[in-house]
Amino acid sequence: MFCRENETPGGKLACVLCPHNCVIPGGGRGRCKVRGNAGGALSLPFYGYISALAIDPVEKKPLYHFRPGSLVFSAGFTGCNLRCPFCQNWRISQRVPPSSGEGRVITAKELIALALESGSAQIAYTYSEPLVHAEYLLEAMALAREAGLANILVTNGAVSSGMARAVLALSDAVNVDLKSFSPQTYAETLGGNLDAVLAFIAEAHALGVHTELTTLVVTGLNDRQDELERIASFIAGISPSIPWHLSAYHPDYRWNAPPTDPDLLAQAARTGKKYLDFVYTGNTAGGDFSDTACPSCGKILVRRKAYRVDCPGLLVRGKTGYCASCGGDAGFIRV
Ligand code: SF4
Repeated sequence: MFCRENETPGGKLACVLCPHNCVIPGGGRGRCKVRGNAGGALSLPFYGYISALAIDPVEKKPLYHFRPGSLVFSAGFTGCNLRCPFCQNWRISQRVPPSSGEGRVITAKELIALALESGSAQIAYTYSEPLVHAEYLLEAMALAREAGLANILVTNGAVSSGMARAVLALSDAVNVDLKSFSPQTYAETLGGNLDAVLAFIAEAHALGVHTELTTLVVTGLNDRQDELERIASFIAGISPSIPWHLSAYHPDYRWNAPPTDPDLLAQAARTGKKYLDFVYTGNTAGGDFSDTACPSCGKILVRRKAYRVDCPGLLVRGKTGYCASCGGDAGFIRV
């Protein structure tokens, strides 16, 4: 589906799953290290390899407007099609298989059975990039839908339009990392393609998938206010109601610059609020950007402290949360 087998001379295989469009020689692997060429045919040596399983608060994804206060059964993979030198999950994303050695193969059917056993009403594909495991991901998501579970995708969004449409058709909520607004940073530092990510975000929103975005604010990479303001402006162009999470970075992997300055993060959030209804800061102590206020009357609808959630001002009708005070739309909070 996402690979053109034997179409390339010399037994090479062309993978069109993501913008890298790797041409993989016999016995080799693509840039994500999880898709290979075995005698001209696609090989997936990590099909069903799950590096981590956990039950997380949905706020940890982060999703603040999708079933606030709920728990989500979460599965992690291995490998990634980006090379972010500051990756906060590099032990599973950049080492294939992960050095921890804790992973194991779990069929898609078993995965969904485990999710149901956990009692959670939803499953997240997360921790390292799920999209490079397209075949397994689509199988698991289809089974989850059949079983009545909501599918949550946490992704870098760097895939071809064909895969974007296929995976979004099975997604109930996505959190997409928008790591920079510079095509050069994406190409040269992250090993990716900004346009593909922007297209994925626009498509997710257009298809009615609940969409939230995260920008890890990395010292010396994307922490200029003008770049962060351009991101906010881009999001507002799709919809000012899309929640934007500004997350603090800590030195990790190959990036040793100091942690994100909390004042800089707060300034970026204030700037973001000029464009967007909902801007949050995360991975940082304190701050005024963790609660959800009604964009119409300003009353607090959802209070958050770490992962503790309280909904003092939320009036729930059907699957949507409204402001109990003014009756205004609570910003597409889905319950
Ligand atoms: S998914 Fe992997 S193999 Fe396919 S094009 Fe992207 S990096 Fe290359």
